[in-house]
Amino acid sequence: MHQKIHQGTRAPTCDHCQRELPPDGMLVASVPDSSFVHGNDPSFDGWRLVRACTEHLIVLIDQARAGWIEEQLWFGRLARASRHPELHGVSLRRLAQHASLSPQGLAQALRWNASRTEPVRRLPGGHPLPVPDICLPSTGSSVDLAARHG
Ligand SMILES: [Zn+2]
Repeated sequence: MHQKIHQGTRAPTCDHCQRELPPDGMLVASVPDSSFVHGNDPSFDGWRLVRACTEHLIVLIDQARAGWIEEQLWFGRLARASRHPELHGVSLRRLAQHASLSPQGLAQALRWNASRTEPVRRLPGGHPLPVPDICLPSTGSSVDLAARHG
C-alpha cells in the first residue's frame, strides 16, 4: 500500500504532524519504502517522497528506514512481473528471473508473503502462490490453489 502525493491546490502539509508548510519551511525527501514498486520503472522501486516541516523530516526518514522489509520489495517486483502479458502461466521461477530475483530471494519473498496476516494467494497476473492453509478462518470458502511443483 502506498500513498499518492496529490499536488492539488491545498497547501502542502507535513506528512508527520499535518501542519501546513510555508514555502520556505517545506522539506522534501525520498525515503525508503519497501511497499512501493513503480508501475514499470524498476529504478523508482523502494522509494517514495515525503514532505515535512524542518522538525519532522528526520522522524519520517527514521520511520521509513525502520519499516523497510527487503522481502516486501522482492514480492512487489514479483507481482509486477506477473502483470506482463507474455509471462502469463509461467512458473514462479521464471517470474522471479524476470523480476531479477535470485532463487533465494524468491523463496524469501514467498515466505514473507505466507507469514503475513492476509497472504496474497494469487499474483495480479493470476499465478497461484504457495500459501499454507493454516490460520485461515473456516468460513467455508475454499480457495482453489492449483499449486504446480516444478
Ligand atoms: Zn511536522
